[in-house]
Amino acid sequence: MTTSDYKKAFTQLKANPIKLKKYKKHNTPKVRKTGIGLRRCKRCGRFGAHIRSYGLHLCRTCFREDAKSIGFKKFS
Ligand SMILES: [Zn+2]
Repeated sequence: MTTSDYKKAFTQLKANPIKLKKYKKHNTPKVRKTGIGLRRCKRCGRFGAHIRSYGLHLCRTCFREDAKSIGFKKFS
């Protein structure tokens, strides 16, 4: 199972409530207070290479794609 959404399996597991309960117990992601796992890109959901400055909350790839439309200029 990917980190994208552990709730994807819920629709299949709703047929058996006991198995759903067990699935939730073992697969619910840990609630993070610090670190990389706390911050995700708001556009694509990626964890790595996160840009927090100016309240962007984008990963580097999304920033490169959106930078011009946001108003950033490249000087080099
Ligand atoms: Zn992104």
